[in-house]
Amino acid sequence: MAPITAPYSEPLLPQLDIKNPYYTEIHHNLRRYVRDYVDTNIIPYAQEWEEAGQVPESVRLRHHQLGFGIVHPLTSTEDSANLSLPGNVPRDKWDTWCSLILTDELIRCGYVGVVWGLGGGNGIGAPPIARFGTLEQRRRWLPGVARGEIRFCLGITEPDAGSDVANISTTAQREGSHYIVNGAKKWITNGIWADFCTAAVRTGGPGRHGISLLVIPLKEKGVTRKRMHNSGVNASGSTFLEFDDVRVPAENLIGKENQGFQYIMSNFNPERLTLACSALRLARCCAEDSFNYAVQRETFGAPLITRQVIQSKIFKFGMWIEPAQSFLEQLTYIIESTKDRPNSVNIGGMTAQLKVMSTRALEKSVREAQQIMGGAGYNRAGKGARVEQISRDARVHVVGGGSEEVMMSLAVREETKALRARQKASKI
Ligand SMILES: Cc1cc2nc3c(=O)[nH]c(=O)nc-3n(C[C@H](O)[C@H](O)[C@H](O)COP(=O)(O)OP(=O)(O)OC[C@H]3O[C@@H](n4cnc5c(N)ncnc54)[C@H](O)[C@@H]3O)c2cc1C
Repeated sequence: MAPITAPYSEPLLPQLDIKNPYYTEIHHNLRRYVRDYVDTNIIPYAQEWEEAGQVPESVRLRHHQLGFGIVHPLTSTEDSANLSLPGNVPRDKWDTWCSLILTDELIRCGYVGVVWGLGGGNGIGAPPIARFGTLEQRRRWLPGVARGEIRFCLGITEPDAGSDVANISTTAQREGSHYIVNGAKKWITNGIWADFCTAAVRTGGPGRHGISLLVIPLKEKGVTRKRMHNSGVNASGSTFLEFDDVRVPAENLIGKENQGFQYIMSNFNPERLTLACSALRLARCCAEDSFNYAVQRETFGAPLITRQVIQSKIFKFGMWIEPAQSFLEQLTYIIESTKDRPNSVNIGGMTAQLKVMSTRALEKSVREAQQIMGGAGYNRAGKGARVEQISRDARVHVVGGGSEEVMMSLAVREETKALRARQKASKI
């Protein structure tokens, strides 16, 4: 790998030649493999694809041939279409660390829209099928997703219900062997290209107990799609979807009717972990580009890096990023250690806490990086281009997948619950 040029631009533990409880040789090899792939195949073109609003189809398909589209959690080799995992990691060795290394290294290109364009919709829309789908549903969809031939998106958010998922109003009424779907979904990543939408729909009464998860075919009559234009993530295909009497086969229901809310909530934890990991890498990109700029840029007869006020900004990158990275690693260690008994530790609160810590680190880092880079940090070309793009992609990390205020409240409630459970257990 290329030499590290800036403080705080790389996670600490993978750099050190010491034994640690987290990263093994498999992880180091995977990181090297993905880094080489990204350096050669993505970074040189990422800006062009982001501006074009789409990753070329040939690039997306090759990405899948290399195993990057295999749906996690891993179920069977059949679900993976017999493709090898990236870097040829053996199936039984693939763990949460591997998934995070993939995110970390892909996002290092600095163009979140490009990474989401490569497979963001499948990344959140297909896991509910792997987790809660029947064998027949997995066979029907997952191999095609792995090969990149089938594209999914996740449809939870609506014009009138975002954070308050229990309040969604898209309906699915059962009529014989079909559901008839009416309603709308907003900001749906990859929705413009997707074949299917794993959607939250109302099949019962009000509130969380009336929600189901249904796979809606998007090429069906009654579906309209409008592309949405946000501040950033231009290549992610953000879409407004409308459903007008769309007929959906009843066999597309995931799990049990009216139990969709719990499936949606369990899908959120991996998504939030991924967003936190992504935010920390973007913050590191800011540290890297602005440090290198400060070393080379001279003002008033001396390089910027010699000024204490600039050093103080560089110092703060570490102060914001490294504690969040340590918490990410601690949480991942907990997830991996309790794999066989996933309900033994409640990770919802910790994941929410981590998401806020990491996205705050990103928001503050991109601000200081742009400041160090002056006008260059505001320019879409040249030395500041990556930081400028990150300044537009940062917000979706703070809002998407559970917005900050809601995460803070959730973290405190879940931590209180977990504490009470531990207290109760210790009294027995
Ligand atoms: C680029 C992009 C991609 C996205 N991709 C997808 C996707 O693929 N699929 C999908 O389903 N959704 C997607 N979303 C939607 C995203 O998940 C929602 O934006 C998010 O859940 C917040 O919902 P909202 O925007 O409706 O905000 P609202 O729920 O309207 O909240 C507005 C603000 O108020 C705060 N707030 C809400 N309730 C409270 C409260 N009780 N107390 C204090 N503060 C509160 C929130 O934190 C938020 O900051 C995407 C969004 C963006 C921007």
